[in-house]
Amino acid sequence: MDSNTGTANCRYNDNGEENTAHTATDTTADGTIDMVTGGGDRYQQLRQMVRASRSVVFFGGAGVSTESGIPDFRSSDGLYSLIYPHPPEVMLGHSFYQTHRDEFFAFYRDKVLDGILAAQPNAAHRVLAALEAAGHVCAVVTQNIDGLHQTAGSRVVYELHGSVKRNYCEACEAFYSGAELLALPQGPGWPRCARPSCGGAIKPDVVLYEEALDTGVMQAAATAIAAADVLIVGGTSLVVNPAASLIQLFKGKDLVIINKSPTVCDYRASLRFDEPIGRVLAATFADVLD
Ligand SMILES: [Zn+2]
Repeated sequence: MDSNTGTANCRYNDNGEENTAHTATDTTADGTIDMVTGGGDRYQQLRQMVRASRSVVFFGGAGVSTESGIPDFRSSDGLYSLIYPHPPEVMLGHSFYQTHRDEFFAFYRDKVLDGILAAQPNAAHRVLAALEAAGHVCAVVTQNIDGLHQTAGSRVVYELHGSVKRNYCEACEAFYSGAELLALPQGPGWPRCARPSCGGAIKPDVVLYEEALDTGVMQAAATAIAAADVLIVGGTSLVVNPAASLIQLFKGKDLVIINKSPTVCDYRASLRFDEPIGRVLAATFADVLD
Protein backbone atom coordinates (compact mmCIF):
# COMPACT_ATOMS: atom_id res chain seq x y z
CA MET A 1 0.00 0.00 0.00
CA ASP A 2 2.52 2.49 -1.14
CA SER A 3 1.01 5.94 -1.09
CA ASN A 4 3.76 7.64 -3.03
CA THR A 5 2.52 9.54 -5.98
CA GLY A 6 4.64 8.86 -9.01
CA THR A 7 5.90 11.42 -11.42
CA ALA A 8 4.17 9.36 -14.08
CA ASN A 9 6.75 9.76 -16.79
CA CYS A 10 4.38 8.34 -19.32
CA ARG A 11 2.64 11.63 -19.25
CA TYR A 12 5.61 12.91 -21.20
CA ASN A 13 6.87 12.04 -24.65
CA ASP A 14 10.43 11.25 -25.63
CA ASN A 15 11.26 14.94 -25.79
CA GLY A 16 10.08 15.52 -22.27
CA GLU A 17 6.99 17.38 -23.44
CA GLU A 18 3.67 16.73 -21.82
CA ASN A 19 1.36 14.62 -23.93
CA THR A 20 -1.86 16.46 -23.55
CA ALA A 21 -2.87 16.63 -27.18
CA HIS A 22 -4.15 13.09 -27.56
CA THR A 23 -7.31 11.82 -26.02
CA ALA A 24 -7.82 8.42 -24.59
CA THR A 25 -9.49 6.50 -27.31
CA ASP A 26 -8.54 7.97 -30.62
CA THR A 27 -4.80 7.59 -30.84
CA THR A 28 -2.43 4.69 -31.24
CA ALA A 29 1.01 4.15 -29.80
CA ASP A 30 2.68 6.06 -32.60
CA GLY A 31 0.30 8.95 -32.29
CA THR A 32 -1.73 8.23 -35.41
CA ILE A 33 -5.49 8.40 -35.31
CA ASP A 34 -7.17 5.08 -34.62
CA MET A 35 -9.86 4.72 -37.25
CA VAL A 36 -11.48 1.80 -35.47
CA THR A 37 -14.45 3.11 -33.58
CA GLY A 38 -16.69 0.16 -32.87
CA GLY A 39 -16.33 -1.71 -29.57
CA GLY A 40 -16.77 -5.00 -31.37
CA ASP A 41 -13.86 -4.26 -33.66
CA ARG A 42 -11.69 -3.36 -30.70
CA TYR A 43 -12.60 -6.61 -29.01
CA GLN A 44 -11.51 -8.39 -32.17
CA GLN A 45 -8.25 -6.45 -32.21
CA LEU A 46 -7.56 -7.33 -28.60
CA ARG A 47 -8.32 -10.95 -29.29
CA GLN A 48 -5.90 -11.03 -32.20
CA MET A 49 -3.15 -9.32 -30.19
CA VAL A 50 -3.39 -11.82 -27.37
CA ARG A 51 -3.79 -14.85 -29.59
CA ALA A 52 -0.69 -13.87 -31.53
CA SER A 53 1.38 -13.41 -28.39
CA ARG A 54 2.97 -15.81 -25.98
CA SER A 55 4.16 -13.17 -23.55
CA VAL A 56 1.14 -11.19 -22.45
CA VAL A 57 1.46 -9.58 -19.03
CA PHE A 58 -1.53 -8.20 -17.17
CA PHE A 59 -1.11 -5.33 -14.72
CA GLY A 60 -4.12 -4.77 -12.48
CA GLY A 61 -5.25 -2.21 -9.95
CA ALA A 62 -8.16 -1.71 -7.58
CA GLY A 63 -10.70 -1.65 -10.39
CA VAL A 64 -10.22 -5.38 -10.90
CA SER A 65 -11.23 -6.07 -7.31
CA THR A 66 -14.14 -3.65 -7.15
CA GLU A 67 -15.88 -5.75 -9.80
CA SER A 68 -15.81 -8.58 -7.25
CA GLY A 69 -17.56 -6.32 -4.77
CA ILE A 70 -14.43 -5.37 -2.84
CA PRO A 71 -14.59 -1.66 -2.10
CA ASP A 72 -11.59 0.53 -2.82
CA PHE A 73 -11.10 1.86 0.69
CA ARG A 74 -8.84 4.61 -0.60
CA SER A 75 -11.80 6.25 -2.33
CA SER A 76 -14.00 6.19 0.75
CA ASP A 77 -12.19 8.49 3.17
CA GLY A 78 -15.25 10.61 3.70
CA LEU A 79 -17.35 7.70 4.86
CA TYR A 80 -14.69 6.33 7.16
CA SER A 81 -13.99 9.69 8.70
CA LEU A 82 -17.46 9.53 10.24
CA ILE A 83 -16.67 6.26 11.98
CA TYR A 84 -12.93 6.05 12.44
CA PRO A 85 -10.57 8.59 13.98
CA HIS A 86 -8.06 8.49 11.11
CA PRO A 87 -8.06 7.98 7.34
CA PRO A 88 -7.22 4.50 5.99
CA GLU A 89 -3.72 5.62 5.03
CA VAL A 90 -3.02 6.16 8.71
CA MET A 91 -4.89 3.20 10.14
CA LEU A 92 -3.22 0.84 7.68
CA GLY A 93 0.21 2.37 8.24
CA HIS A 94 3.24 0.74 9.80
CA SER A 95 3.40 3.31 12.61
CA PHE A 96 -0.23 2.75 13.54
CA TYR A 97 0.29 -1.02 13.43
CA GLN A 98 3.18 -0.65 15.87
CA THR A 99 1.46 1.72 18.27
CA HIS A 100 -2.28 0.95 18.06
CA ARG A 101 -2.39 -2.79 17.43
CA ASP A 102 -5.98 -3.38 18.54
CA GLU A 103 -7.36 -0.45 16.57
CA PHE A 104 -5.33 -1.48 13.54
CA PHE A 105 -6.72 -5.00 13.54
CA ALA A 106 -10.28 -3.89 14.22
CA PHE A 107 -10.14 -1.68 11.14
CA TYR A 108 -8.25 -4.27 9.11
CA ARG A 109 -10.75 -7.01 9.97
CA ASP A 110 -13.89 -4.95 9.41
CA LYS A 111 -12.88 -2.90 6.37
CA VAL A 112 -10.36 -5.08 4.57
CA LEU A 113 -10.34 -8.75 5.56
CA ASP A 114 -14.07 -9.50 5.93
CA GLY A 115 -14.95 -8.08 2.53
CA ILE A 116 -12.10 -9.82 0.75
CA LEU A 117 -12.75 -13.23 2.24
CA ALA A 118 -16.38 -13.03 1.15
CA ALA A 119 -15.48 -12.11 -2.44
CA GLN A 120 -15.26 -14.41 -5.44
CA PRO A 121 -13.25 -14.03 -8.66
CA ASN A 122 -15.00 -12.16 -11.45
CA ALA A 123 -14.84 -12.66 -15.21
CA ALA A 124 -11.55 -10.76 -15.48
CA HIS A 125 -9.83 -13.10 -13.03
CA ARG A 126 -11.27 -16.17 -14.77
CA VAL A 127 -10.32 -15.07 -18.28
CA LEU A 128 -6.75 -14.27 -17.24
CA ALA A 129 -6.37 -17.66 -15.57
CA ALA A 130 -7.67 -19.39 -18.70
CA LEU A 131 -5.35 -17.39 -20.93
CA GLU A 132 -2.42 -18.41 -18.76
CA ALA A 133 -3.43 -22.06 -19.05
CA ALA A 134 -3.64 -21.61 -22.82
CA GLY A 135 -0.07 -20.28 -22.90
CA HIS A 136 -0.79 -16.64 -23.72
CA VAL A 137 -0.61 -14.81 -20.41
CA CYS A 138 2.74 -15.37 -18.72
CA ALA A 139 2.26 -13.25 -15.60
CA VAL A 140 -0.22 -11.19 -13.64
CA VAL A 141 1.12 -8.22 -11.71
CA THR A 142 -1.36 -6.85 -9.21
CA GLN A 143 -1.65 -4.08 -6.68
CA ASN A 144 -4.53 -5.91 -5.01
CA ILE A 145 -4.20 -7.94 -1.85
CA ASP A 146 -7.18 -10.27 -2.21
CA GLY A 147 -5.56 -13.31 -3.84
CA LEU A 148 -8.47 -13.65 -6.28
CA HIS A 149 -6.23 -14.29 -9.28
CA GLN A 150 -4.92 -17.43 -7.59
CA THR A 151 -8.43 -18.43 -6.54
CA ALA A 152 -9.41 -18.23 -10.21
CA GLY A 153 -6.46 -20.43 -11.16
CA SER A 154 -3.65 -18.08 -12.15
CA ARG A 155 -0.28 -19.49 -11.14
CA VAL A 156 2.22 -16.71 -11.88
CA VAL A 157 1.00 -13.75 -9.85
CA TYR A 158 3.22 -11.00 -8.53
CA GLU A 159 1.43 -9.29 -5.64
CA LEU A 160 3.15 -5.95 -5.22
CA HIS A 161 1.33 -5.20 -1.98
CA GLY A 162 1.15 -8.74 -0.60
CA SER A 163 -1.96 -10.72 0.30
CA VAL A 164 -4.39 -10.83 3.20
CA LYS A 165 -4.50 -14.58 2.67
CA ARG A 166 -0.99 -14.98 4.07
CA ASN A 167 -0.25 -14.16 7.70
CA TYR A 168 2.78 -15.04 9.78
CA CYS A 169 3.54 -15.23 13.47
CA GLU A 170 6.27 -12.70 14.16
CA ALA A 171 7.77 -15.01 16.80
CA CYS A 172 7.74 -18.49 15.25
CA GLU A 173 6.75 -17.68 11.62
CA ALA A 174 3.77 -20.05 11.72
CA PHE A 175 1.50 -19.54 8.70
CA TYR A 176 -2.17 -18.59 8.97
CA SER A 177 -4.60 -18.16 6.09
CA GLY A 178 -7.04 -15.29 6.19
CA ALA A 179 -9.82 -17.58 7.38
CA GLU A 180 -7.55 -19.09 10.04
CA LEU A 181 -6.70 -15.61 11.24
CA LEU A 182 -10.37 -14.75 11.64
CA ALA A 183 -10.96 -18.02 13.48
CA LEU A 184 -8.45 -17.19 16.23
CA PRO A 185 -10.05 -16.11 19.49
CA GLN A 186 -10.86 -12.43 19.10
CA GLY A 187 -10.57 -9.70 21.68
CA PRO A 188 -7.82 -7.40 22.92
CA GLY A 189 -4.47 -8.48 21.52
CA TRP A 190 -6.01 -10.38 18.58
CA PRO A 191 -4.56 -12.07 16.58
CA ARG A 192 -2.12 -14.16 18.59
CA CYS A 193 -0.34 -17.33 17.47
CA ALA A 194 -2.17 -20.48 18.58
CA ARG A 195 0.91 -22.69 18.72
CA PRO A 196 1.54 -24.07 22.22
CA SER A 197 3.72 -21.76 24.30
CA CYS A 198 4.06 -19.23 21.46
CA GLY A 199 1.31 -16.61 21.52
CA GLY A 200 3.33 -14.33 19.23
CA ALA A 201 1.79 -11.44 17.33
CA ILE A 202 0.59 -12.32 13.83
CA LYS A 203 1.21 -9.88 11.01
CA PRO A 204 -0.55 -9.95 7.65
CA ASP A 205 1.81 -10.38 4.69
CA VAL A 206 0.56 -7.08 3.36
CA VAL A 207 2.70 -4.06 2.54
CA LEU A 208 1.43 -1.38 4.88
CA TYR A 209 1.70 2.31 4.21
CA GLU A 210 5.22 3.50 5.16
CA GLU A 211 6.63 0.05 4.40
CA ALA A 212 8.87 -0.81 1.47
CA LEU A 213 7.74 -3.10 -1.29
CA ASP A 214 9.31 -6.55 -1.47
CA THR A 215 12.31 -6.16 -3.76
CA GLY A 216 12.09 -9.73 -5.04
CA VAL A 217 8.47 -9.31 -6.10
CA MET A 218 9.20 -5.93 -7.66
CA GLN A 219 12.14 -7.34 -9.62
CA ALA A 220 10.12 -10.29 -10.88
CA ALA A 221 7.31 -7.97 -11.96
CA ALA A 222 9.75 -5.64 -13.67
CA THR A 223 11.39 -8.52 -15.54
CA ALA A 224 8.03 -9.85 -16.73
CA ILE A 225 6.85 -6.45 -17.93
CA ALA A 226 10.14 -5.71 -19.68
CA ALA A 227 9.95 -9.03 -21.54
CA ALA A 228 6.28 -8.80 -22.54
CA ASP A 229 5.16 -8.06 -26.07
CA VAL A 230 1.62 -7.22 -24.98
CA LEU A 231 0.82 -5.44 -21.74
CA ILE A 232 -2.79 -5.19 -20.62
CA VAL A 233 -3.40 -2.65 -17.88
CA GLY A 234 -6.72 -2.81 -16.06
CA GLY A 235 -8.43 -0.98 -13.25
CA THR A 236 -5.77 1.56 -12.44
CA SER A 237 -5.14 5.16 -13.41
CA LEU A 238 -1.37 4.50 -13.30
CA VAL A 239 -0.71 7.58 -11.19
CA VAL A 240 0.48 5.90 -8.02
CA ASN A 241 3.84 4.21 -7.77
CA PRO A 242 4.96 1.51 -8.36
CA ALA A 243 2.49 1.35 -11.26
CA ALA A 244 3.82 4.49 -12.89
CA SER A 245 7.43 3.35 -12.83
CA LEU A 246 6.76 -0.28 -13.77
CA ILE A 247 4.79 0.62 -16.88
CA GLN A 248 7.79 2.59 -18.12
CA LEU A 249 9.65 -0.69 -18.45
CA PHE A 250 7.30 -2.01 -21.12
CA LYS A 251 9.02 -1.94 -24.50
CA GLY A 252 6.74 -4.39 -26.33
CA LYS A 253 4.41 -3.96 -29.24
CA ASP A 254 0.97 -3.31 -27.82
CA LEU A 255 -0.18 -1.57 -24.66
CA VAL A 256 -3.87 -2.13 -23.92
CA ILE A 257 -5.59 -0.02 -21.26
CA ILE A 258 -8.93 -0.98 -19.75
CA ASN A 259 -10.02 1.65 -17.24
CA LYS A 260 -13.18 3.60 -16.66
CA SER A 261 -11.34 6.91 -16.41
CA PRO A 262 -8.39 8.30 -18.39
CA THR A 263 -4.87 7.28 -17.43
CA VAL A 264 -1.58 9.08 -17.88
CA CYS A 265 -0.45 6.42 -20.36
CA ASP A 266 -3.46 6.51 -22.67
CA TYR A 267 -1.44 8.24 -25.38
CA ARG A 268 0.77 5.15 -25.66
CA ALA A 269 -2.05 2.67 -25.92
CA SER A 270 -2.78 0.69 -29.05
CA LEU A 271 -6.23 0.01 -27.64
CA ARG A 272 -8.22 1.76 -24.95
CA PHE A 273 -11.45 0.61 -23.31
CA ASP A 274 -13.48 2.50 -20.74
CA GLU A 275 -15.94 -0.31 -20.04
CA PRO A 276 -15.71 -2.54 -16.94
CA ILE A 277 -12.72 -4.85 -17.26
CA GLY A 278 -14.72 -8.01 -16.60
CA ARG A 279 -17.10 -7.15 -19.39
CA VAL A 280 -14.29 -6.39 -21.86
CA LEU A 281 -12.38 -9.59 -21.18
CA ALA A 282 -15.48 -11.77 -21.06
CA ALA A 283 -16.77 -10.33 -24.33
CA THR A 284 -13.38 -10.70 -25.99
CA PHE A 285 -12.55 -14.19 -24.75
CA ALA A 286 -15.94 -15.77 -24.15
CA ASP A 287 -14.66 -19.05 -25.58
CA VAL A 288 -12.01 -19.58 -22.89
CA LEU A 289 -14.66 -19.42 -20.18
CA ASP A 290 -16.62 -22.34 -21.66
ZN1 LIG B 1 3.97 -18.37 16.81
